[in-house]
Amino acid sequence: MTDRMPAIFFGHGNPMNAISKNSYSEGWAAIGRSLPRPRGILVVSAHWYIPQCAVTVTATPPTIHDFGGFPTELYEVNYPAPGNPTLAWHVRNLLAPVRVDLDENWGLDHGTWAVLIHVFPNADIPIVQLSIDERQSPAYHYEMGQRLAVLREEGILVVGSGNIVHNLHTYTWGRQGVKPFDWAMRFEERAKELMLRVEDDQLVSYEKLGQDAKLAAPTPDHYLPLLYILGLRRAGDRVSFPVQGVDGGSVSMLAVQIG
Ligand code: ZN
Repeated sequence: MTDRMPAIFFGHGNPMNAISKNSYSEGWAAIGRSLPRPRGILVVSAHWYIPQCAVTVTATPPTIHDFGGFPTELYEVNYPAPGNPTLAWHVRNLLAPVRVDLDENWGLDHGTWAVLIHVFPNADIPIVQLSIDERQSPAYHYEMGQRLAVLREEGILVVGSGNIVHNLHTYTWGRQGVKPFDWAMRFEERAKELMLRVEDDQLVSYEKLGQDAKLAAPTPDHYLPLLYILGLRRAGDRVSFPVQGVDGGSVSMLAVQIG
């Protein structure tokens, strides 16, 4: 038994998962029940992908509805988890000498709340978000994760939120049971194999994994949060995939748990 906190990558998919009862949201709730209660949560979300490295430092982060064209009830969702300025400062110090700006404008985007509303429905665990600096390489993001590994010994749950396969060009909105594209299945399977074999180098240089990778991650934003979580892995940590499935043919809902 270790008191090291697991680290988890969630495939968040369609924002409607926030208010849906399905195999994904039920899987997220089960993960929440299985975890030790964290002192705080640090989230790296695909939806805070900006030309800057920043952490949210507000004590009361707003719920951001960063999407368009969804039903009114999704815009009415509020996830009132507190922030934690002390944790934000700590993250900033851990990442030095990288310059980390303290941000008072962002809050919790849907990459965060659409998932955590199921994992921690009481919204009573403080959350800090860390942006993904879009100017940086995949290797840089992996190293950022490595620098944050000590948080696991401090009772902080580090969460990555994106999708290992995320192609909205080919995504079939609103239709259940669509057969996944072959390339989506192949890429997800390849990624799982590499994670199980601890071949992080290949996962970091995923752009070299051929045409499947190009289709799976046509832009880096939803893939990069995975690299933070892989960077947090310690020798002997087991890897598991507590939520699985491909939504709309081309969005992998795979969750990856380290530890
Ligand atoms: Zn997304």
